[in-house]
Amino acid sequence: SSWRNADRLMGKCRIMPNIDRERINSLMKREEARFIAERPKSQALFEQAKSTLIGGVPMQWMVVWASPFPIFAKEAHGAHITDVDGHRYLDLCLGDTGSMFGHSPAVVAEAVAEQVRQGITLMLPTEDSVWVGEELARRFGLPYWQVAMTATDANRFALRFARKITGRKLILVFNNCYHGTVDEALATVRDGVVTARAESLGSPVDLALTTRVVEFNDVEALEKVLSPRDVACVLCEPALTNIGIVLPDPGYHEALREITRRHGTLLIIDETHTICAGPGGYTRAFGLDPDMLTLGKPIASGVPVAVYGFCQEVAEKVQVLTAAPGTDVAGIGGTLSGNALALRAMRATLENVMTDAAYDRMISLAERLTDGVEKVIHDNRLPWHVTRLGARVEYRFQPNPPRNGAEAELGGDLELDRLVHLYCLNRGVLVTPFHNMLLISPDTTAEDIDLHTKVFAGCVGELVERC
Ligand code: PMP
Repeated sequence: SSWRNADRLMGKCRIMPNIDRERINSLMKREEARFIAERPKSQALFEQAKSTLIGGVPMQWMVVWASPFPIFAKEAHGAHITDVDGHRYLDLCLGDTGSMFGHSPAVVAEAVAEQVRQGITLMLPTEDSVWVGEELARRFGLPYWQVAMTATDANRFALRFARKITGRKLILVFNNCYHGTVDEALATVRDGVVTARAESLGSPVDLALTTRVVEFNDVEALEKVLSPRDVACVLCEPALTNIGIVLPDPGYHEALREITRRHGTLLIIDETHTICAGPGGYTRAFGLDPDMLTLGKPIASGVPVAVYGFCQEVAEKVQVLTAAPGTDVAGIGGTLSGNALALRAMRATLENVMTDAAYDRMISLAERLTDGVEKVIHDNRLPWHVTRLGARVEYRFQPNPPRNGAEAELGGDLELDRLVHLYCLNRGVLVTPFHNMLLISPDTTAEDIDLHTKVFAGCVGELVERC
């Protein structure tokens, strides 16, 4: 069933002509047998869990790993995870960005432990929130901020504000984007028709009523879809990161900004993954000028918290709206949002972990990783490519970097993905499920990178041996 889940998440896979499918299948069988033999405790826990947890896990994404069952984690520190069977893994998934700055950084662990003893959730602001607001304004260049629990929530609230301010109902996202479990953003476009992502569970509304979808990097399509002036906002990642990495063409962001502004559409930049580009995200690294910015996952080292920022003009409108007598803010926020623990964890992370020095290290190691993977691809003359964005690296099974979500989809190969992932897992390296994403933390070392390169080369070597 995990296979079918992954299939849904990845969309249709394309078969690489030069890789022998039987070879993939026989290697997969061998790797599955090894995985099972070496992990009796994880398997026993999984079997036990199945009687109370749907699918044997607390959250369905946890069975999308390439292994027959998930490893059950025992502990995680820095760039490594240990499982209940005593295996130690180099973690290049890092909680799919949630732990991008390393598992349980000591300084955050200390701060969190202290705050837990001083009150966790109070429905009152603490002094940390003032520090955090000032730091976010300095770092990202947007003057006003709010706090949510998850990036999904930050996006939902940003959409609500955008709709209220513009008086427009529609939103625009890019094909094959992902912005969390935001109903209106789980949209795709096929032959010009907007629909829910394939088999998206329980999709609540007809997405044609809420959402417009165009391809990334298509300026003409953007102009066309925004010109009726009925779209409240564009919600976008500055580079797509959830279908491989799709970088913007030169000049694309300037065009996006100009067109949105001209048509009265707000621009919301989701930095949840692209925070890998630098300490102020892609926005600061490349001088973007969004109306709103959202960011979750690693901002408090994995303690659940997210933030969203407003430019001056939008903030002024939001302030008028929220201060108006009788305004109902029930649709914005949440009881636990902005809690004392989250703010303390975020402060400790921003102050000590997400530093310029950490980024310098992470990015230079990501370059080393890219070079290593590129060399393996080149040496084996494979029609694959590797892309890097800051501390994030992704390889994909197509010769050239895609320019949009539709092209990127063609570079997916689920069978190959799963074999590479399981091969790595059996040799102590975790790669992000759903895609081939490798993330570098401040604790990752050059030896770690070289281990991945060696294992990846071993897998490729076995694959192409008989082709
Ligand atoms: N935005 C982006 C760009 C994401 O990739 C994700 C999750 N992968 C989210 C938002 C949602 O994050 P969360 O699941 O923590 O709400």
